[in-house]
Amino acid sequence: MSENNTEQLKKLADALLPEVKMTPEEIVAKYPARNLAPSIMVTRIAPSPTGFLHIGGLYTAMISERLAHQSGGVFYLRIEDTDKKREVAGAVELIINTLREFKIKVDEGEIANNKEIGNYGPYKQSAREDIYKVFIKKLIEDGLAYPAFESSLELEEIAKRQGEIKIAPGYYGQWATWSHKTAEEYLAALENGLKPVIRLRSQGDTKNFVNVEDLFKGKLHLPESDQDIVILKSDGLPTYHFAHVIDDHFMGTTHVLRGDEWLASLSLHLQLFNLMGWTPPVYGHLAPIQKLDNGNRRKLSKRHDPEATMTYYQEAGYPVDAVIMYLLNLANSGFEKWLLENPNEDLNKYSLSINELKKGAGALLDLVKMDSFSKELIGRMPVEKVVELALVWARQYDNDLARIMESDLAYTTAILNIERGNDKARKDLTKWSDLRVQIGFMFDEIFSGIKINTVELEGITPEDIKAIIVKTLERYNLNDDKDTWLQKIKDLAVELGFAPDVKTFKAEPDKYKGHFGDVAKVLRILLVGENKSPDLYEMMKVMGGERIARRLNNYK
Ligand code: GLU
Repeated sequence: MSENNTEQLKKLADALLPEVKMTPEEIVAKYPARNLAPSIMVTRIAPSPTGFLHIGGLYTAMISERLAHQSGGVFYLRIEDTDKKREVAGAVELIINTLREFKIKVDEGEIANNKEIGNYGPYKQSAREDIYKVFIKKLIEDGLAYPAFESSLELEEIAKRQGEIKIAPGYYGQWATWSHKTAEEYLAALENGLKPVIRLRSQGDTKNFVNVEDLFKGKLHLPESDQDIVILKSDGLPTYHFAHVIDDHFMGTTHVLRGDEWLASLSLHLQLFNLMGWTPPVYGHLAPIQKLDNGNRRKLSKRHDPEATMTYYQEAGYPVDAVIMYLLNLANSGFEKWLLENPNEDLNKYSLSINELKKGAGALLDLVKMDSFSKELIGRMPVEKVVELALVWARQYDNDLARIMESDLAYTTAILNIERGNDKARKDLTKWSDLRVQIGFMFDEIFSGIKINTVELEGITPEDIKAIIVKTLERYNLNDDKDTWLQKIKDLAVELGFAPDVKTFKAEPDKYKGHFGDVAKVLRILLVGENKSPDLYEMMKVMGGERIARRLNNYK
């Protein structure tokens, strides 16, 4: 390298990247610094469009967005699509829609495929090729990057030899063959038609350490990277390592919040910022979301755990706010207390604490907890909201149910309003996919009659059942208030030889066929099909006389 003088390096850089016309200064002028007060955060989410947005990605996005907006700053979306082989069609829209659905507000970046807002774009890496190349060319001119011409086979061979002699793998030191060539040798290889990658000429030494303060993990002491990593691939696109340095610098990112898996590259990233002469952003690495598997914590697997993917929550029909609550609780254990004190407050009012995020030993996914947030939330919702959200879900995931519910909206609303709005609100709906089981029986099209096997009517004769039916039909009046209704059933029970209450029955069990509760149970089973339902009085009122008569008369 030392033999390569400025002129030769310039010639090499021109030969490698003849298409680059702009200068670094021109780029700098195009993207002036944001000039924000030091307390203001600019964060981003930078997914690769390789498929669904996973819960870990949404979690990171939510934390990044909250922290930025809480500080009065900016949150943006950058699409990291430099790995064209892994790209999946439609993934960008899916990411944008998922962020929107889960109420993560993007101030800049992609807002639809090939449509973006903001002054620091393009926000899609594949559209920034010319920007990256300007700086890669400059690094070549400065002798800090060089072309390497190994085939993948040759690289495999190197890795194999390193494995055999048990030394660190990679392209570094003596193994970095092309690092030590002269400009003439590079140019000769180019003339032979070989297509190179561009590698960084690392300035690091693993014997040296860098100190850095991670936003969540605190002080870190990391060995320098001595790897001559690829910064520009032979397809003309940069690698993540290089691209994110350019992007986060020019997009004015103050805080890079990302998954733990990038911790191993942090020292390299700091080296790159240093090489470019730029101040690095603050990095914050979040431990991956884990789950308990046979009592052991393990990382949630995108491939094996359906609950890792956001579509799981959408298909099951968890209200969006329940998912947000759950994620906030994963991030900050103090959230639950806040929610108890502010059950109806806008979730945006909750201020996420960085200190609490520091404490986490890695968020543990707990679907029981998710269910409990969701159940409580649906229990508190006004009925109009329940109907609206239930229908939005059903139209997408259970069309038949949507049709049935929509065919009599007043009836649907009345059903969902049973026991709603009081202190002991029903908690039987956890997610919209519970609707069929929890309220389906109220609709004649879904009601499947008495499930004989589950009937718990031992000790009550068919004659008693028939008598209960006849007397109920004679006396039931939709307009009765609850006390009158109760008294009527009690009277009926007593007339048929049942005790008016459990206490009386228990005192002299031989004297009675059963008690009032058994009569109510008979009615419930005949009307609902099983011995489980919302409040019988309210339910009958909603069902209406005609439907009650039809169902009771069905008993043969
Ligand atoms: N594209 C990277 C990923 O998909 C982004 C990492 C980062 O946030 O810097 O994980």
